[in-house]
Amino acid sequence: MHCALITGITGQDGGYLAEFLESRGYEVHGAVRPAALSAFRRPSHLSHRIPLHPVDLREGLAVRQLLDRLRPREVYHLAAQTHIPTSFEDPGATVEANVMTTLRLLEGCQRLASPPRFFHASTSQIFGRSSYSPQDEQTPVRPVNPYGASKAMATDLVRIWREFHGLFAVNGILFNHESPRRTPDFVTGKICRAAAAIKQGRAQELLLGDTKAQRDWGDARDFVDGFWRSLQYGTPNDYVFSTGELHSVQEVVDLAFATVGLDPSAYVRIDPSLVRKSEPSPVMGNSAKARALLDWKPRISFANLIREMTEAALSLDLDLPAATGSTV
Ligand code: NDP
Repeated sequence: MHCALITGITGQDGGYLAEFLESRGYEVHGAVRPAALSAFRRPSHLSHRIPLHPVDLREGLAVRQLLDRLRPREVYHLAAQTHIPTSFEDPGATVEANVMTTLRLLEGCQRLASPPRFFHASTSQIFGRSSYSPQDEQTPVRPVNPYGASKAMATDLVRIWREFHGLFAVNGILFNHESPRRTPDFVTGKICRAAAAIKQGRAQELLLGDTKAQRDWGDARDFVDGFWRSLQYGTPNDYVFSTGELHSVQEVVDLAFATVGLDPSAYVRIDPSLVRKSEPSPVMGNSAKARALLDWKPRISFANLIREMTEAALSLDLDLPAATGSTV
């Protein structure tokens, strides 16, 4: 049985990846933040079979000890400070969380007699306000927020460990991907949860910024399949994972409110303070390389994704999502 270590296992992708790998017979281990452990509750979807190891991924010794103990065949590094507004509030912690953890893991993997294959969750945010669309593996890197900058550096470190240290190290350059487990910090999660809350009488309105803003939104369950495929391929590479389709915030609103049988125009208000500067070119990915080399393709449609997210929100006992700070 192959052993896989997932960092960020408590997050959206970590949970789906754990399920995916278990279904393929892997022995799955998770790394969790020690700070989170005192208040730690295992997410209800995370199997009790999966051991969770408290480790500060910024500390080289702790990371080495964990890797020595597990000697995993594959390491999936998903842990990160993922919220863009928070990255402006605390850029130092964002760099520590996103760069130093990646560095420590790369160093720890490299020194093992049998180094594991390593996957790093990079992001389309490394491209910033790109003047090219769609973006692919060759698009110039020019991040415009500390989150994107930290991921750009981590992405370079992964490439350097591949090219100079010979590690089987892969960057997945991930465009937005959502699921019923998406939190209201992100605009799709905010909209779907608000539609459900309004339907259930727990909220009266939904405040949004620019509803014309468009994104390339995929489904997290499709993406974790790509993470795994990228580590099974003969050689390590960087890959864009994206749907190549653009949809607007307004489409998310329309689908979510249609799912609960309400007219959104009665509930959605535009808050100018939430409107962000628009991009010069659409944020859309070209995943031709992953499709050709890994035989990967997204399978779950945008409409089904938003419907499922809204239906899941109807069964949650939640307060109205915060009116500010959501990330597109
Ligand atoms: P989530 O925000 O859902 O999960 C983040 C995970 O990282 C959680 O397990 C969290 O642990 C952990 N984490 C947060 N801060 C730290 C820290 N300082 N040190 C260690 N662990 C930390 O993210 P997703 O699952 O959506 O994303 C997975 C990866 O994919 C991330 O690296 C993200 O940057 C990248 N990505 C995701 C995209 C998306 O659309 N989902 C798009 C592009 C890239 P805890 O439970 O303790 O908070």
